Amino acid sequence: MNACMFCRIAERKVPSEIVYEDDQIVAFHDINPQAPLHILIIPRRHVVSVEELKEADAPLLGHMMLIGAKIARDRGVGDSGYRIVFNTGMHGGQTVFHVHLHLLGGRPMSWPPG
Ligand code: AMP
Ligand code: ZN
Repeated sequence: MNACMFCRIAERKVPSEIVYEDDQIVAFHDINPQAPLHILIIPRRHVVSVEELKEADAPLLGHMMLIGAKIARDRGVGDSGYRIVFNTGMHGGQTVFHVHLHLLGGRPMSWPPG
């Protein structure tokens, strides 16, 4: 069995609230939302973090970000604004080691982040 929780979500082997999927990526609700809208967007391929991505992955990264923006618009936060972020490594606050883009919206975000 694949030990990676996000691979298992992408394979639909564990339940999650999937909001979008295609041949490259899957988007689903964060289990512990930090904003009224909190979606995670992951590649189907297991990649640990942004640190592992290569130039050839630029289209994949762009696709993840553009789908994040589309989901934000579709869910009504396109005009009010939102944040998309890759927590990366220890200082970046990454806790799940399958790369994921957070889409957060529906409330004002502060800066700098904690
Ligand atoms: P990060 O700290 O950037 O690695 O973010 C990991 C995120 O994954 C956190 O916001 C968690 O709440 C979320 N998470 C962990 N397990 C699950 C799960 N099974 N389904 C949905 N979200 C999850
Ligand atoms: Zn994985």
